[in-house]
Amino acid sequence: MPRYDYRCKACDHRFEAQHGMNEDPPPCPVCHQTDLQRLITSAPTIARGILTPAGTARASSKEELQSKWAEETPKLRKKLVDKLGEDTVSRMAPSLNPKTD
Ligand SMILES: [Zn+2]
Repeated sequence: MPRYDYRCKACDHRFEAQHGMNEDPPPCPVCHQTDLQRLITSAPTIARGILTPAGTARASSKEELQSKWAEETPKLRKKLVDKLGEDTVSRMAPSLNPKTD
């Protein structure tokens, strides 16, 4: 069953409700009004997906993650340099610069 996030227009309470696509949302758990605004809240889910790719997060040790990061960073950087130019990347994303020390 899909989940939706709602904001109660009466009291500004935000809550998550689970209900069928063609069903009405439940009333606000705080004030029991049914005047709700559905929120678009896919962003946190997407962010979680990026930070912990499915199947890798729990299995990987810290060292594995670090070596993976060390491997991926130059590739990512190269892509950005191709798109934005060396100067822009050095300026805008200093954390991607190769370590010089
Ligand atoms: Zn409310």
